[in-house]
Amino acid sequence: MISFEHFQSLIKLYIPNNFRFKCFDCGDCCRYEAGYIFLLDNEINLISKSLNINKEDFLRNFTFKFSNSVHSLKEKENLDCVFWDNSIRNGKGGCSIYKIRPVQCKDFPFWISTFSSKQNFEEQANRCKGIMAKDGKLYSSKEVYKLVYMDIKKRETQYKSFLDDETIKILYY
Ligand code: SF4
Repeated sequence: MISFEHFQSLIKLYIPNNFRFKCFDCGDCCRYEAGYIFLLDNEINLISKSLNINKEDFLRNFTFKFSNSVHSLKEKENLDCVFWDNSIRNGKGGCSIYKIRPVQCKDFPFWISTFSSKQNFEEQANRCKGIMAKDGKLYSSKEVYKLVYMDIKKRETQYKSFLDDETIKILYY
């Protein structure tokens, strides 16, 4: 994996000067829209164990194959995440596996895709009221780079399955 210093000098991210973020816990990023939530091997083991089912049943019922080595969580018919539960948190709804949710969920919005262009950034900001929230935490450009770098490091198998060859070469070799 590329060093952080190299990452910062080679990868161009779009980061507004006054980037702020705060999660309002609204669940909008878990609902209403089709998308991918990729799973690491240890997450597959952990979640299937917590559901008291074997790994094969978990993969069949709750995920679909994105590539040979990567699975993504399914959505319900209404496009909510398969683990969104309307009945929890006094009917406010929430993630039924919150404590063991995938790294991809934990790391949002610090994905390389969020900051890869102004257009991508604005699209994410339209989906998530926490991005650029006035009372959100102010992040320096270096802090954003660091968080995006950490996410890329943690989710290497996943990123290798969908980034273009040139970017993979820069990041991981
Ligand atoms: S959409 Fe944004 S503010 Fe709402 S839960 Fe997701 S990250 Fe938090």
